[in-house]
Amino acid sequence: MALLSIRDVSRRFGGIVAIDEVSLDVDPGQIVGLIGPNGAGKTTLFNVITRLYKPDSGELDFDGKSLLHTPPHRVVRRGIARTFQNVELFKTMTVLDNVLVGAHTSTRPFGGTAGDARALEILDYVGIAAVARRPVAGLPFGTLKRVELARALASAPRLLLLDEPAGGLNHEEVSELGAFITRMRDDFDLTVLLVEHHMGLVMGIAEHIHVLDFGRKIAEGTPDEVQRNPAVIEAYLGAETAAA
Ligand code: ATP
Repeated sequence: MALLSIRDVSRRFGGIVAIDEVSLDVDPGQIVGLIGPNGAGKTTLFNVITRLYKPDSGELDFDGKSLLHTPPHRVVRRGIARTFQNVELFKTMTVLDNVLVGAHTSTRPFGGTAGDARALEILDYVGIAAVARRPVAGLPFGTLKRVELARALASAPRLLLLDEPAGGLNHEEVSELGAFITRMRDDFDLTVLLVEHHMGLVMGIAEHIHVLDFGRKIAEGTPDEVQRNPAVIEAYLGAETAAA
């Protein structure tokens, strides 16, 4: 059974159709890519899954039960965590406290000295334990992305939504990130839904890929299948190839 099942979900903003009758399944334990050109509806779909946006129509199930009756502040407790394209952190708080906020919203909250130790373990895992006591404000963008990731991991999610994790990284960092996401999926027993424009990263680590264009799903399959799909080449990869 799919861990996440989206059926015919639509969301409009005034006259703009952001997503139009999108259906997709995410199987447990997989790294699943969600790709498409700018404005295709990827972030809108993330916002629907995390209940920031109410869909106009359609169904949304997580672990066999509807998500549509789950209020936004309860989504993390159901086992869904995310990172944001532009990083959303509590800027005046320390790195450690930001991670503890993630732990607090967990199904298995941790606090006190043991909680600090667990948060530090997670910060060490993402490679930033050295800045644990520093305020978030002023830290480099790449570090902030890792703080967000640590916060998400601290909530002990089953499904992790990553919104453009490679944004702002150089070539070497992107290839390290790919290996890191795969390792993290295994170590934390996660399912990962990955929005990313960096095709090398998605094609390298995703087991299955869904493609959106102008709010509609135009293709799905393995990386090989998707790269050979004429509709995808036309909508997205063709544009990338032409730009290269
Ligand atoms: P990108 O790759 O550039 O991040 P995306 O695939 O994530 O793009 P969305 O941000 O989901 O695309 O946007 C899909 C469409 O919905 C766009 O036309 C966008 O302008 C519109 N849209 C998204 N959010 C809103 C909003 N809050 N109000 C109005 N229009 C919106």
